[in-house]
Amino acid sequence: MIELSSIPELRRWVRAARAGGRRIALVPTMGYLHEGHLRLVDEARRRAETVVMSVFVNPLQFGPGEDLASYPRDLARDRVLAEARGVEALFTPGEAVMYPPGSEIRVIPGPTADRWEGAARPGHFAGVLTVVAKLFHLVEPDLATFGRKDIQQAVLVRQMVRDLDWPLEIVVVPTVREADGLALSSRNTYLDADQRRQALALSGALRAAHEAFVAGERRASALAAAMRRRLDLEPAVTVEYLAIAEPRGLAPVETVEADSVVALAGRVGRTRLIDNIILGEGLG
Ligand code: AMP
Repeated sequence: MIELSSIPELRRWVRAARAGGRRIALVPTMGYLHEGHLRLVDEARRRAETVVMSVFVNPLQFGPGEDLASYPRDLARDRVLAEARGVEALFTPGEAVMYPPGSEIRVIPGPTADRWEGAARPGHFAGVLTVVAKLFHLVEPDLATFGRKDIQQAVLVRQMVRDLDWPLEIVVVPTVREADGLALSSRNTYLDADQRRQALALSGALRAAHEAFVAGERRASALAAAMRRRLDLEPAVTVEYLAIAEPRGLAPVETVEADSVVALAGRVGRTRLIDNIILGEGLG
């Protein structure tokens, strides 16, 4: 595995890789890798000969008062995990490489970014799409893999690719969970043992929605009530939103179908966690 941290180096390497006729897949991350990130690499390798992973904690997607400064970082460990999984090039730019002084242009999403995560984190998706757009330009991948864990992000990246006529395929990979249901997240490292247990209310609420759906319930309001009952058992968890939505633009629905999305965000102590399921699939 080669590590590249400047744009000219990255471009040179990509040009050479492409000259060999190889398909290139991009896996964008903020590092502190876990099995969820590594499944994106597995999927990328199934579909392309060459996998480029980026590790960049993107300051643009953090709001004031969010955890940019404390976001977990361990590049030495990321190098080992990425290489062992078959990443060929690791792009690790510094902030001044991605946003040199004077940089000011942003990718501004449409109304799909205004709800759920976008409402809770103003400006977040403009930050995400700007960095993803830059990475797409730098690597010009044939495809890029994203996790369903961040479902609104995946929806918006697809929308950006469609609206800006980008010639690449977006592949969305199912959420990887711990055995007890907790979705893997770099932020899980913030949780102490009690909070780790309390956080199970999120996946527990999603399971409750899935079970109600399997039992025949189709009213979103009834699914939301089932979720609230599970969440109420864990007062340490503060719910930020609870979404029951259609899968394409995440607009709320009143009547659900198997492909409806159920998503939620909550705080356990100072840690903000998100999770979601496709209703017909459950926790997987
Ligand atoms: P992050 O480093 O949090 O920006 O995540 C980088 C990519 O990994 C995004 O596409 C995420 O959706 C994806 N990802 C994060 N956690 C998981 C997970 N538990 N399962 C699958 N993909 C994930």
